[in-house]
Amino acid sequence: MRLVDSHCHLDDPKFDQDREQVIERARAAGVERMMAIGTGNGPPDLEVAVRQADRYPFMYATIGVHPHDASKAAPETFLRLRDLAPHPKVLAVGEIGLDYHYDFSPREVQRDVFAQQLEIAAEAGLPVVIHTREAWDDTLAILRQNWHSGGIMHCFTGDEEQARQALDLGFHLSFGGVLTFPKAEAVRQAARITPDDRLLVETDCPYLAPVPHRGKRNEPAFVVESVKRLAEVRGRAPEDLAELTTGNFEQLCLRGKPGNS
Ligand SMILES: [Zn+2]
Repeated sequence: MRLVDSHCHLDDPKFDQDREQVIERARAAGVERMMAIGTGNGPPDLEVAVRQADRYPFMYATIGVHPHDASKAAPETFLRLRDLAPHPKVLAVGEIGLDYHYDFSPREVQRDVFAQQLEIAAEAGLPVVIHTREAWDDTLAILRQNWHSGGIMHCFTGDEEQARQALDLGFHLSFGGVLTFPKAEAVRQAARITPDDRLLVETDCPYLAPVPHRGKRNEPAFVVESVKRLAEVRGRAPEDLAELTTGNFEQLCLRGKPGNS
């Protein structure tokens, strides 16, 4: 199986003891590419994922300020993001968006930092990776106003109606461990109605490990569990879903990048 983990936090301290083995296990499990998310602990360090990507040919990066860290963003943060955007391994701006569950940064600041990063992504011609929690309506409103070219709804946990709204805006829906949770029938329904060419998978590791690893540290090799569940939900073979989601990632994120068709 050819797999992609479209969302991993390999800089997390939970991987400090065995990061190399984790990456090797992923490769052995068929994970051809991994997209490391560059939000880390927030500004001023905006390069946590670029550093990972520079070390391995199969590793890619995003850059961005997480809504949790929005209040750490300063004018030089946005200048630095603009500098980093053309890096050949940077495939997207993210994860950016709104988080009204934790409210670690004031909501007006979150909205402003989100909008500014959409502008940077648009200038750079990069897709965006969206994080949204208990802020669906505001997220959609900002996207409708500031964004016209799709991207990834990361760790999609919405229902069918929300899936349709995101799809209408041109987004891909990325399904992670939550898809495998017993109570997540609404999420599985969203996965059922998503067109073939808009499906992606991810782990969001080290968080949200899928069944049968639930409660443990998540890692990129476990992305296969989301693929299997997606296959079951859609009545297809896991190999088909692996191929499909890998192809979708390449199409969305690697088009026009050096060394890729
Ligand atoms: Zn994440």
